Amino acid sequence: MKYYSTSKISSPVSLGEAVIRGLAGDGGLYMPERIKRFDPDFFRSVHRLTFQEIAFEVAALFFDEDIPEDDLRTIVNDTLSFECPVVPVTGNIWSLELFHGPTLAFKDVGARFMARMLRYFLMGENGQVTVLVATSGDTGSAVANGFLGVDGIRVVVLYPKGKVSQIQEKQFTTLGHNITALEVDGTFDDCQRLVKTAFSDEALNKRVALTSANSINVARFLPQAFYYFNAFARLREQGALHGEAWVVAVPSGNFGNQTAGLFAREMGLPVSRFIAANNSNDVVFKYLKTGKYEPRPSVETIANAMDVGAPSNFARILDLYGHSWQKIRTLVSGFRIDDKGIKETIRRVHDTTGYLCDPHGACGYAALEEQLNKDETGTFLETAHPAKFTSTMEEILGKGIVPLPDKLAAFMKGKKQSVEISGKYASFREWLEHLQ
Ligand SMILES: *Cc1c(COP(=O)(O)O)cnc(C)c1O
Repeated sequence: MKYYSTSKISSPVSLGEAVIRGLAGDGGLYMPERIKRFDPDFFRSVHRLTFQEIAFEVAALFFDEDIPEDDLRTIVNDTLSFECPVVPVTGNIWSLELFHGPTLAFKDVGARFMARMLRYFLMGENGQVTVLVATSGDTGSAVANGFLGVDGIRVVVLYPKGKVSQIQEKQFTTLGHNITALEVDGTFDDCQRLVKTAFSDEALNKRVALTSANSINVARFLPQAFYYFNAFARLREQGALHGEAWVVAVPSGNFGNQTAGLFAREMGLPVSRFIAANNSNDVVFKYLKTGKYEPRPSVETIANAMDVGAPSNFARILDLYGHSWQKIRTLVSGFRIDDKGIKETIRRVHDTTGYLCDPHGACGYAALEEQLNKDETGTFLETAHPAKFTSTMEEILGKGIVPLPDKLAAFMKGKKQSVEISGKYASFREWLEHLQ
């Protein structure tokens, strides 16, 4: 299957090229030319399948023309070395827990899948590829860990100095080997701008083979559809979704997760509607209200992985629905919550149910609390483990409430190694040129 650019200037490319390039030459994002639908029968028996089996069926609908079945099954099974369970929280609200992977955030799924796809498509090609990734916290760790030790691939993580939690920082600055962390004097948007500028710098691209691992890469955002299907199956298994409408709340930053959910729906998944939950970075919330899309610089919040002022996947959502604001609004409603609201939600959920939401998941929970009808079943994406935000969680709930998982304790023992750079493109470019 071919992949076209949302900007429609560059020609469509093969899957391999889309995965290796990341962003299209015209600055657009790649989209699959077709979205195949499951037979409705699939949903009647899907609860008898495991997560890995479901994920393979979803992957095959996208990739079966391009990757032999056995290879695809290996990629899927290696990626999903952990579960994404759905657990009841209260009443008709369930949590889709996406934090059981190596770095305890949902980005493990996309990053692990992409690393394996990239290795698959680079096999037989010589030379080094450099993966550039801008992170507001969790992407960097998921990508760095997903690619750690993969031959022929170097990973450069750009992150805003002083703006990610210590635990997040430790997860991508302590790895060494083929992973380098760049500490940028600026914001996440500055990091994202540096990466985008490097990709569109033709002279640089002739000398250094660059690719992206941000959620703009098709191999990162498409596999995120896996766990929406799995959520449906696990809910059915536990007695939910036998007729009632299903609403899914997605804590959103760059809108990769939200886009994957919409793709899943286009593939036939019976989601009745989505709620895109924003923190104070409310560009999409405003778009859904007014029809005007006006990117702005991001502001800092305690749900920092959602501090995005110009969500990169939004172009995909517009493209998917032919730029129709009307259509998008019928499928996605907006929600916005500030830091005070996030803190109150975490405290209230913990006090009344015992469940621990992280600051991002709390945005999704609060969205359902406000907008879910009594006769509907709601699921929010719990996008990271609360222990990744220890100081925020302690400030809200006090010490000793959130246990530190062993995986995180191990990262904390590592030694931080990073290279400091300014937010200026010229200095980043020079550093990149001297890499080889
Ligand atoms: C990245 C991230 C988000 C935002 O996801 P997008 O796909 O960029 O919208 C939400 N929560 C956590 C914990 C994240 O790491």
